[in-house]
Amino acid sequence: MAEVLLSAQKVTKRFGGLAAVNGVSVDLWRGKIHAVIGPNGAGKSTLTNLLSGDLPPTSGQVLLGATDVTGWAPERISRQGLGRSYQKTNIFLPLTVHENVRLAAQSRDAQQPWNPLRWWPDTRSDTIKNRATSARLESAIELSGLKDRRTAIAGAMSHGEQRQLEIAMTLATEPQVLLLDEPLAGMGVAEAERMVELLQRLKPAHAIMLVEHDMDAVFALADRLTVMVNGEVIAHGTPPEVRADATVQAAYLGE
Ligand code: ADP
Ligand code: MG
Repeated sequence: MAEVLLSAQKVTKRFGGLAAVNGVSVDLWRGKIHAVIGPNGAGKSTLTNLLSGDLPPTSGQVLLGATDVTGWAPERISRQGLGRSYQKTNIFLPLTVHENVRLAAQSRDAQQPWNPLRWWPDTRSDTIKNRATSARLESAIELSGLKDRRTAIAGAMSHGEQRQLEIAMTLATEPQVLLLDEPLAGMGVAEAERMVELLQRLKPAHAIMLVEHDMDAVFALADRLTVMVNGEVIAHGTPPEVRADATVQAAYLGE
């Protein structure tokens, strides 16, 4: 049975006089991908930050399952089951794939975010004491498609593999809800195809919000779409509904 894992209710974020996000509501269902599209400056990243706790909303509410997490710190929201990626990658370049993912898996046990200013992994130790951590680590590497790359140095990998790694790190915290901010940005055709396949693999077990500019990927993946312009929702619905919407045609798709 489908369930709503995250519900944002009329969230607004003001920066001074600017309403970067204005009364936006969105429900994320397990097993569904909800895409958020719109031109630069529409408020997509700000919306992501409101759901993850990176920014507190000016008004509105965010429910994670039945829990009102409005105003919670991002680490606390993360422990409650929300994982996110950033528009810019957030990985440790000198470390291997395995070490990066281990760090993310252990950060959950340490009940801390993987902030290098506060915490640094003990990369000399090859033992992982906690079996649950080890299992999370293995399944994150496997699911992200990096099984054969575990000893690769992150900084020497392609852009596409670095984005896969970032998703592996997010998965290592075992989120139910995934917020992905432009996971296909800067990718070539083959890399983008691989990422689309990865998102298909993640879909059954997660509720996913996908912010993305690649319309082929969006229309291939999304079950529902929200179109934002200047902080407002101008349309929402299934891909065919949104494609047929005259306002969207004029404001965004413009084809
Ligand atoms: P998108 O991700 O859709 O490109 P953003 O959410 O990044 O859009 O930005 C939405 C609007 O909010 C833009 O006008 C941007 O300049 C503004 N904005 C974003 N973050 C901040 C901030 N921290 N302070 C002030 N203005 C911001
Ligand atoms: Mg953005």
